[in-house]
Amino acid sequence: MNHLRIIDAPKKIELDAIDPADTGKLSKADVERELPKLEARLAELQELLYAAARHSVLIVLQGMDTAGKDGTVKHVMSHINPMGGHAWSFKVPTPEEAAHDFLWRIHQRTPARGQFAIFNRSHYEDVLVVRVHNLVPKDVWKARYEQINQFEAQLAADNTIICKFFLHISADEQRQRLLAREDDALKSWKLSVSDWQERAFWDDYQKAYGQAVGKCASEEAPWYLVPANQKWYRDYVVAAALVQRLSAYEHEWKQALEERGKTELEALRQYRATQASTGASNQ
Ligand code: ADP
Repeated sequence: MNHLRIIDAPKKIELDAIDPADTGKLSKADVERELPKLEARLAELQELLYAAARHSVLIVLQGMDTAGKDGTVKHVMSHINPMGGHAWSFKVPTPEEAAHDFLWRIHQRTPARGQFAIFNRSHYEDVLVVRVHNLVPKDVWKARYEQINQFEAQLAADNTIICKFFLHISADEQRQRLLAREDDALKSWKLSVSDWQERAFWDDYQKAYGQAVGKCASEEAPWYLVPANQKWYRDYVVAAALVQRLSAYEHEWKQALEERGKTELEALRQYRATQASTGASNQ
C-alpha cells in the first residue's frame, strides 16, 4: 500500500477528506518492524548527498500547534548525521526580519550543496498566521502564493530537493495533547495561552492550509499530507517520503562519487610515480 499523499501540482485541497487518524491499515507493530529499515536507508542517502555535494535538501514542516513538528525534527535528525545539516524554527519575525521582505530570513537558512535543512515552520507562516490574523492586507498575502512558487522554483533550479510536509491532526487530538501537557510536569513548559487562543481559529487555519498546499504545489516542491494523530505513523510516512524522494538521486550521486574517486586515484598514482622517479620516499 502506498502511504504517500503527494500534492505535486496546484489543485483544490479538501483537508476534511483526509482522516488524521488514518494509519493506512498498518499497525504499530508493523511500523516498528519497517521503520528501522527506512531510517537506515535515510542515513545511507544522506551520506551520499553529503559526499556527492551536488544537491541540497530542504524539508519544510507545517502543521497546527502540537501537530508534531518538534517530534518530527527530532525523529529525522536522530537518523542522519547532524554534521550534514541543520534544523531551524521560524518564530514571530524579529524587528530586523520584519524590516525585510518575508523571504529574506528564509533564504538565509536554506541548505548549501551537500547539506540538508529542516524548517520547523517556514515562509508558509506568511500565508497562514498572517492571513488568519490579518497581519497584512489581503492583496499582500494573496500575492505571496506566487512569490513562494517562484522562490521554490528558483531553489529547485539550483539543485535544492524540496519536501514539504503538512502534519494533519484533528481538533480533538490537539485538545488531548494540550491537556496532556498540563498533567506532565516536564512538558508543561511547552504550554502557552496562545495555543488555546489559536484553537478558536481552527477552521480559518484549515482553510488557509488547504489553500497554501493547493496553490503552492509543484513537481519540484511537492507537499506530503501526513495523517499525524498517531505519532508512529507520522514518523513512518515522513521517513518513507524522504527515502522515496532521495532514492531517485542515488544513482547520480554514486556516479559523481565514482568520478571523484577516479580523479583522486589518478592524482595519487601520479604522485607515487613522481616520488619513485626522484627516489624520494614517503612511506
Ligand atoms: P512553536 O513553533 O514551537 O509553536 P512558538 O510557540 O514560539 O514555537 O510559536 C512560534 C509562533 O511564531 C507561532 O505562533 C507562529 O505562528 C509565529 N510565526 C511564525 N512565523 C510568523 C510570521 N511570519 N508572522 C507572524 N507570526 C509568525
